[in-house]
Amino acid sequence: PAMQSPAELGGASAGRPHLMFIPSAGMGHLLPFFRVIGALASRDDIDISVVTVLPTVSAAETEHFAGLFEAYPHVRRVDFHLLPFDASEFPGADPFLLRWEALRRSAHLFGPLIAGASPRVSAVVTDITLSSHVIPIAKELSVQCHVLFVSCATMLSLCAYVPVHLDSKAAAGEEVGPGVGDVEIPDVGRIPERCLPQPLLDLNKLFTKQFIDNGREIVHADSFLLNTFDALEPVALAALRDGKVVPGFPPVYAIGPFNAHTSTAAAKQPPAAGSPEAWLDGQPEKSVVYVAFGNRNAVSREQLREIGAGLEASGHRFLWVLKTTTVDRDDKAELEDVLGEGFLERVRGRGLVTKAWVDQEALLKHQSVGMFLSHSGWNSVTEAAAAGVPLLAWPRGGDHRVNATVVVSGGVGVWMEHWSWDGEDELVTGEEIGDKVKEVMSDEAVRARAARTGEEAAKAVAEGGTSYRNLQEFVGKLKAT
Ligand code: UDP
Ligand code: UDP
Repeated sequence: PAMQSPAELGGASAGRPHLMFIPSAGMGHLLPFFRVIGALASRDDIDISVVTVLPTVSAAETEHFAGLFEAYPHVRRVDFHLLPFDASEFPGADPFLLRWEALRRSAHLFGPLIAGASPRVSAVVTDITLSSHVIPIAKELSVQCHVLFVSCATMLSLCAYVPVHLDSKAAAGEEVGPGVGDVEIPDVGRIPERCLPQPLLDLNKLFTKQFIDNGREIVHADSFLLNTFDALEPVALAALRDGKVVPGFPPVYAIGPFNAHTSTAAAKQPPAAGSPEAWLDGQPEKSVVYVAFGNRNAVSREQLREIGAGLEASGHRFLWVLKTTTVDRDDKAELEDVLGEGFLERVRGRGLVTKAWVDQEALLKHQSVGMFLSHSGWNSVTEAAAAGVPLLAWPRGGDHRVNATVVVSGGVGVWMEHWSWDGEDELVTGEEIGDKVKEVMSDEAVRARAARTGEEAAKAVAEGGTSYRNLQEFVGKLKAT
């Protein structure tokens, strides 16, 4: 009889690991997973499975899952069915946060999925939002468990340190609450309460509970993969690696900035007429302000009007990716209604506004883009860093303010600390936006720093660079089982 390959015998044979990815939800979490999966799937020495929950929360997620499996037919799709989940327990909660919770409550079902896979799973890679459940399950099965952390190293240090911070306050008999207070992370620095993800201001919130549970458990992970690079966050990376944040912290592999997961043939074809790419092709070098606030940030109508007024007043060309709802499927608004009568007419030729999904990573690399007005979601920050495009950070919630500190320290751009998104009284006026955009567009020093950061980013991922070597090391660790 023909010899059976070790894989057919059901073993992840020495030297050929089988990696099972267990991602969570939201494009900000899925895209970095898909990018790492793409990078590893292009090698021929690793088997890959991806746990897939359908239907997804947003249309963009469904399309990107399909795109992943089409681009990498040898990557296995492992379907996963959530247990029924009663969302009415959390009225008004963000649908992505609810999906994380639904995943967490179904997490015990990951055990049989991991144990039953063939070839044998040698390592799991999961998301921070699922970590406190998935890490113990993987340990129980003697399978490595790595966390692909989708934010910055500074945020990881916060996540790991908050439980220690709370415990030491309790031990000292200090009153804690309603929020976690300012957090002084050893060797990283002080994160004032106003910069924390807002839910941490209330210890009873669902997100806060998830955050603390995950923070406690991650010290048991086998390693962390981060979409950052040594030159961008040297201080936080050193503090984590030296065990200064939490003693004995697992290895931290900074392997970013991540690349688009495919260099598809489509990308090389001339862009479709009327597409943002085609429009950028017609604009002068570094002349366009790219404006986008992530995949799940609804912006109020009032604030949208002010942004429009600001872009118009700046006198610059702009490409604005506009979202009016948290979930893309719900976005039925007409641009004309949102922006006010006459706006699109007045800016015709110099401004393009779209509600469609764009390939932001590619657009930022376009030579016509001169700056990025962003909420500083971490993927956006790393995409700007890779492109060497100055980012004007207008952080919104979640990890955005922590990310904005890295935008500044890492030379990616500037941060408007007093700009907020918190309701009508706090509208940032069109005048302010227009002035700041003009200022950043003409700031040669900011532009030069961003360009230098872009060069560092390219060096990090090039053969022999820090991120390149970190990825090699990670793969070596997978093979060591
Ligand atoms: N994105 C995109 N096209 C869009 C909207 C978003 O490519 O139309 C990508 C963006 O490039 C980034 C991710 O979606 O990679 C959003 O993640 P980020 O961390 O910037 O923000 P979040 O959406 O999680 O707040
Ligand atoms: N996060 C964490 N522990 C958790 C959940 C989230 O450390 O249990 C971090 C993670 O880095 C995430 C950030 O908190 O990126 C903010 O979460 P969210 O995805 O809501 O941010 P956004 O997508 O809006 O950027």
